[in-house]
Amino acid sequence: MRAKIDKEICIGCGYCASVCPEMFRVGEDEKATVLCDVTQDNKNAAEDAMSGCPVGAISEE
Ligand code: SF4
Repeated sequence: MRAKIDKEICIGCGYCASVCPEMFRVGEDEKATVLCDVTQDNKNAAEDAMSGCPVGAISEE
């Protein structure tokens, strides 16, 4: 499983990267990017990031 960012929606707030820096980083374009797949180890933090994104830009694929 992998998280997916809708860059049209992302406002670059950095929440996802603060909650789960292993998986998310906000780039110079001020949009989040996904760095790795969802694993057992990072699943909880990834779900926190997904549910806490203020604009709902993170989904799973
Ligand atoms: S939490 Fe949502 S809006 Fe904020 S940087 Fe991450 S994907 Fe973008």
